[in-house]
Amino acid sequence: MKRPWIGVFKFTSCDGCQLSVLNMEDELPDFVSLFQVAYFREAGDMPLRGRFDIALVEGSVSTGWQKAQIIEVRERTRHLVTIGACAAAGGLQALRNWADIEDYKRLVYPSPDMIETLPCSTPVSDHVYVDYELWGCPVNCDELSEMLGSFLLDRKPGIPAYSLCMECKRKGVPCLLVAKSEPCLGPVTRAGCGVLCPSMERPCYGCFGPKEGANIGSLLEAFRNAGFSSHECVLLLDKMNTYAFREAGTGEGRF
Ligand code: SF4
Ligand code: SF4
Ligand code: SF4
Repeated sequence: MKRPWIGVFKFTSCDGCQLSVLNMEDELPDFVSLFQVAYFREAGDMPLRGRFDIALVEGSVSTGWQKAQIIEVRERTRHLVTIGACAAAGGLQALRNWADIEDYKRLVYPSPDMIETLPCSTPVSDHVYVDYELWGCPVNCDELSEMLGSFLLDRKPGIPAYSLCMECKRKGVPCLLVAKSEPCLGPVTRAGCGVLCPSMERPCYGCFGPKEGANIGSLLEAFRNAGFSSHECVLLLDKMNTYAFREAGTGEGRF
């Protein structure tokens, strides 16, 4: 069988999702035997040339050159898949979307004039067509394997669309929201992480992003009834998926 060509691309990100790919120790031999890895700068210095059957894209678009580069990647690629919260939702760096970027530049950098950046950090799907989004911070490697396997078998990936609460109930984890009034974002968050945080008695902070049709307003009302202020509720959502949660909350990117 001719091996499909795969490229792994980085935009604004911490590299954690690419490292997760490299950390798939059990699966890596299959990965390199089934795919021709043609571009993966985190793994080695490879020139960007030719076309790709599949591109895995990490990171958000937050500079002018990235806006041009993501279009080039799309043009070279048959199937474009984003990996992680930065690429799917703009990442933690999208917090600047609700502030003045010039203020941040002045406060953070000794020479703000040297910083070239866009005022907003945006998901890849705001710029080009995305065939599939894998969420999480970092991306879940089981979901990545499932997606790559389904590409080879030409079928739809079996990745859950329901909320984390479903996964949590199946595992028999006591509910932190009901039993302890802790502000768990599980009801509005996509399943897929294996209920990492509630299993450790920690509330979910939504790193898998909003599930489709999430009723965020209703959950925030439950938090307010449990004694959290409106400001605290917004802070709960303002993390690596701030852009997606705010959009899902109002459809306008703002509460
Ligand atoms: S999604 Fe998280 S782990 Fe992945 S690149 Fe962004 S910040 Fe890093
Ligand atoms: S602990 Fe969180 S994820 Fe689990 S059932 Fe309760 S609200 Fe849902
Ligand atoms: S429980 Fe929530 S915050 Fe924790 S890993 Fe899963 S999705 Fe992310």
